[in-house]
Amino acid sequence: MYHVPTAAVVSSPDAAPLEGGAGETGSAPRAATLHGPLAALRLIATSDLHASLMPYDYCANRPNLNLGLGAVSQQIAEARGEAQNCLLFDNGDFLQGSPIADYAANARRRRAHPVITAFNTLGYDAITLGNHEFDYGLRFLSQVLTDAQFPVVSANVATRLGKSPARDETLVPPFTILRRQIIDRAGRAHLIRVGVIGFAPPQIEEWDRDTPDGRVQTRDILAAARAWLPRLRARGADIIVALAHTGIGALDPDTGTENAATALAALPEVDAVIAGHSHQVFPGPDFPASAAVDPVAGRLAGKPAVMPGHSASHVGIIDLDLERCRSGSRRWRVVGASTRIGRRSTGPASATPALHQALAPDHRAALAWSRRRLGTTPTALHTQFATIAPCAALDLIAEAKAMHVRAALAGTGWEGLPLLSAAAPFRAGGRGGPLNYTDIPAGPLRMRNLSDLYPFPNTIVTLLLTGSELATWLERAATVFCQIAPGSTDTPLLAPEVPAFLFETIPQLSYAIDLSQPARFDAQGRLVNAETRRIVGLCHGDRPVRAEDEYLLVTNSHRAGRARLQDPEADLPVVFTDGARVQAVIAAHVQRNGPVAASPRRNWHFLPMPGTTVSFAAGDGAAAHLDDVADFRPIRLARDGAGFTHYRLHL
Ligand code: MN
Ligand code: MG
Repeated sequence: MYHVPTAAVVSSPDAAPLEGGAGETGSAPRAATLHGPLAALRLIATSDLHASLMPYDYCANRPNLNLGLGAVSQQIAEARGEAQNCLLFDNGDFLQGSPIADYAANARRRRAHPVITAFNTLGYDAITLGNHEFDYGLRFLSQVLTDAQFPVVSANVATRLGKSPARDETLVPPFTILRRQIIDRAGRAHLIRVGVIGFAPPQIEEWDRDTPDGRVQTRDILAAARAWLPRLRARGADIIVALAHTGIGALDPDTGTENAATALAALPEVDAVIAGHSHQVFPGPDFPASAAVDPVAGRLAGKPAVMPGHSASHVGIIDLDLERCRSGSRRWRVVGASTRIGRRSTGPASATPALHQALAPDHRAALAWSRRRLGTTPTALHTQFATIAPCAALDLIAEAKAMHVRAALAGTGWEGLPLLSAAAPFRAGGRGGPLNYTDIPAGPLRMRNLSDLYPFPNTIVTLLLTGSELATWLERAATVFCQIAPGSTDTPLLAPEVPAFLFETIPQLSYAIDLSQPARFDAQGRLVNAETRRIVGLCHGDRPVRAEDEYLLVTNSHRAGRARLQDPEADLPVVFTDGARVQAVIAAHVQRNGPVAASPRRNWHFLPMPGTTVSFAAGDGAAAHLDDVADFRPIRLARDGAGFTHYRLHL
């Protein structure tokens, strides 16, 4: 393994090239060859780690050797061992998503953040920021980054926008030039300057607008790229790597796209792309082949690209063949490339002692934090059927949020308006797989259970909505369902392209969902069927919800931002926000109010469709809770390739 430690980086921009003259510029027979020196450079990347560090499932309170950065650090070590010249990158969304991150965000700061400790220990060369880095606020992020022993870059996230992208005051440096020794094929050392630039989805500006301290502004990824890339070249970058916390989308996307990796790859200065954010795997069958996307060779717009899954499921490896131009710029350029994906190994051999040793104090503290007892629940709190029937788990989230805001608004002018509170299942199958459900048994309720029930550090936001905006809110939630023809048999119920966390329910309202109608909105929230509605009989108490009535809706910071993005025209005033995190609000609610309610409110149901059945993909834990959905007379059908068990439900 050849890896230049940070301390050995040649830091002066004027540093003399390290290669000896002999053989390259030299006199010997080589001088007569057509080509300059040839070298190989391997780029290794992780993305969307979501603080998955240790081989331990904190929510389930047991070791799990399939989890954590250790499980792929074996692949990283092997990949480094096979190649002489390596660089290791992370592509963002590292700060949030595991109880060890929740602990670190709530603890007094004694040492580096565990994720930064992990990156320092494994010798990462550079990283970029994903959208979830902003979840805990800017002050927290800035503190966390002070311990990084590697550059952090992001070109389209600014504290202040300038007249043009290159005049923005970016939050962290837009790019870095890594100066590294590489050993060429003949064994001689050279200097290479690797330009590394980072990008994040511009939607951060709205998604994180209501986080506690400070706001960021964002640029379109491609506009920022076009402005900054020539500067990397001007600063001497031989090759340029884009750390792109963005999905694989169109070659010519709309301005402001969330998924810009393909279009980025097409820019002439970019030599390689690390994609991410959508938690998929590239190269691989997650993506259909198209003119711009080669899912077998791992090419976007002809350039080598990888997307290494999420939560340390995979590492991405790009091997670049480089040649140094013999004249003119004398810069290294890419003459060939190959890409592959390394899957995490399983079993004890995957553990890396240095990493786990470095993380041991944080792991112990996270365990103690996650095991704190808050109260008891007389009933299981699970999301196995959260998309087909009201459930106690979501009622608890909604009730805790409502009580927090009700107390805060007491005695204010808002007290007289009906107070509603929305909740969605964050863990409900989907891309997370058949084990991706919240399933808390009856009994003691601990901090780790709340990390499971409410894994995001969203804060509470209360909006003022009209009755018609409220109906729209629920119509958007109902896009998770496929249209079901009356009398049909076993049509899949859930639309695969819509994540279950968009299925918000509002326990204080009663309504039915008419599955025979097409969805009014598409997966992106755009109005596609103006003449149809799925939500029927919407009532608050005994009173139908009228279009012009006013309501207060308690939701979360992320969902409020999403609503503003989907409906830029709609004015959804924020009535109340105090920066309180929903998870902490639920914890306080459970501690203060004792055991949580035993049964859900049964406030919504599907409109009956006699003689009609649907197929519902359920997780491994569903079988134990079938009584909760006995009304559907569920019948077990088959298990699919992804491990979901399909049940026939009678509507
Ligand atoms: Mn992510
Ligand atoms: Mg992301």
